Amino acid sequence: MSKAYDFDLIVIGSGPSGRRAAVQAAKLGRSVLVIEEQHRVGGVSVHEGTIPSKTLRETVLNLTGWRERGFYGQSYRVKSEITANDLRMRLSKTLDFEVDILEHQFARNTVRVQHGRGRFLDSHRIEIEAKDGATSVVSGEKILIAVGTKPHRPNDVPFDDKIIFDSDAIVHLDELPRSLIVVGAGVIGIEYATIFNALDIRVTIIDAREDILGFIDREVVAELMHWLRDLGVHFRLGMKLESIQMEAGQPVAILEGGRRVRGDMLLYTGGRSGATDTLNLSACGLEADARGRLKVDPQTFQTDVPHIYATGDVIGFPSLASTSMEQGRLAAYHAFTHGVMHAPQHFPYGIYSVPEISTVGMSEEEVRKAGLPYECGIARLRETSRGHIMGIRGGILKIIIALEDRRILGVHIIGEGATELIHIGQAVINLGGTIDYFIDATFNYPTLAEAYKTAALDAWNRITPRQEIAVP
Ligand SMILES: Cc1cc2nc3c(=O)[nH]c(=O)nc-3n(C[C@H](O)[C@H](O)[C@H](O)COP(=O)(O)OP(=O)(O)OC[C@H]3O[C@@H](n4cnc5c(N)ncnc54)[C@H](O)[C@@H]3O)c2cc1C
Repeated sequence: MSKAYDFDLIVIGSGPSGRRAAVQAAKLGRSVLVIEEQHRVGGVSVHEGTIPSKTLRETVLNLTGWRERGFYGQSYRVKSEITANDLRMRLSKTLDFEVDILEHQFARNTVRVQHGRGRFLDSHRIEIEAKDGATSVVSGEKILIAVGTKPHRPNDVPFDDKIIFDSDAIVHLDELPRSLIVVGAGVIGIEYATIFNALDIRVTIIDAREDILGFIDREVVAELMHWLRDLGVHFRLGMKLESIQMEAGQPVAILEGGRRVRGDMLLYTGGRSGATDTLNLSACGLEADARGRLKVDPQTFQTDVPHIYATGDVIGFPSLASTSMEQGRLAAYHAFTHGVMHAPQHFPYGIYSVPEISTVGMSEEEVRKAGLPYECGIARLRETSRGHIMGIRGGILKIIIALEDRRILGVHIIGEGATELIHIGQAVINLGGTIDYFIDATFNYPTLAEAYKTAALDAWNRITPRQEIAVP
């Protein structure tokens, strides 16, 4: 432990980035304190965001028998009546497991945890206020701000967390609605909309933008839209939300031009802001932007005050648990070794909608914008033998390659297993591989992963003059 300070590192926030940073610093032999406002560690990722939404998704897919519907029809059900209680039961078990593992990990690495809200007194001292109002002060040689975000809750939306929810509150839902309005067609909105739709709940998605998920390859989004419309999801896109009102106990979304959408419940997913408002940042010489976010050096994660670091959602894009963890690890490594570790250039993005989407590298639109000559290869998951066995009806795997050297520029997948399958493409892209890898590789049979070979051959057929095509 540094003599001048109580701890070598104080981490504010125990989400994915704070946790990884704490463990990394401890592994480097440093004394670490994690300050966590909530009574259990894990952050938004464990208690409101990633894990709860993915657990709900898995529960819904299992209880409804969604994956079997390709064989047994749209009305097939494993459990005829699914209640909010069924969803909550699995959620609380999963969260207990997760928290247990995190607490154990902290204990094993002698990371201390103190519960309470942290606020800066100066650039090395933090005051911790416990739930009962008791305060204490700790000092750290280095500080990491890993406080994450809070949902944006506009004053004119009548949230009551019973009928009108934000994305943190929806996980504590007491009963299932017959119809749901989802405001916001971003990742969170689409994930929840499709999970509820899989429960045969009538879902209407509202967004002022015409094009949803703008950072995803358009061909994949077109496939998603087609799929969701086929499953009965209603879209009100390109329509600005004027207001949300309660009428006879039901939420009504009033759209520009007077169109009204009525439902039993409403989920508002209007973005998230950095949870920096109570940190008293001015005491340590920092200032957040209008959305509560902090600016950092992208290599080292240092703020403008060099011994104060920030990682995770509080620094903005890409705001994923996966990338947050790596940021935390890199920040702690830099803080105590002064070394800069470089993460591989391309990271995957997973959208756990039903069907799921995952993507790595450049989209076709980005390739075109960059002016790179390219070609695409596409495989349909239903055309693989594993797809036949599983009764898969939809889904594509798209590979984009550079014509100049056949390097893989991007891989985009929608359909069963997308978030797992993507890692094959990620490895090949980050290692600078070409489509020849997929053409020559032997895949387990039958697997969905074979779709890589099919897509690579599709691209190969497109770029190879006919007389040169020998049966590969
Ligand atoms: C609905 C939803 C679904 C998501 N799905 C995915 C997904 O599938 N995959 C994925 O990779 N990412 C997903 N994310 C994003 C992921 O949850 C975040 O990227 C991740 O949680 C950010 O981690 P973080 O380290 O910034 O901290 P967070 O997880 O945001 O945690 C911050 C912690 O800091 C604490 N804190 C805040 N202020 C203080 C203070 N002053 N004093 C003490 N403690 C404080 C909070 O209580 C909280 O525990 C999802 C997010 C949401 C909302």
